[in-house]
Amino acid sequence: MAGFFTSVLRSKCPKCNLDNLYVDNNPYHLSTLSVMKKKCDCCGQSYEPETGFYYGAMYVSYALGVAVMVVPAMLLYLLFDLGFGALLAFVITVYIFGFPLFFRFARNIWFNIFVHYDPELRRKLENKTALPS
Ligand SMILES: [Zn+2]
Repeated sequence: MAGFFTSVLRSKCPKCNLDNLYVDNNPYHLSTLSVMKKKCDCCGQSYEPETGFYYGAMYVSYALGVAVMVVPAMLLYLLFDLGFGALLAFVITVYIFGFPLFFRFARNIWFNIFVHYDPELRRKLENKTALPS
């Protein structure tokens, strides 16, 4: 499970957790937000297993959006009795500033559903790189 969270939160290869998934690891550089590497430089895992693979990440994105925006908005309504306008402003603000993170987290979670962490492979790769050449 640690491999899953490392991969999702730090945008690392889901199989070995060593290489970055994206060309630019900062999601707030919007011009490179969705630009992924072709494959892992460490273990060779392809980052696009099939054409259109990441369309499925939209479902994850929807669930993330509901969890991150609607649930806190409901809590704000119940605890502070905020009006509809204030809640709408809250949700829109969270969406605008959180969009790059939601986008990447959705892709990372989707990829991790299909490709699982292999701690044995990671140990082998780390030992290989630790040897003097
Ligand atoms: Zn890898």
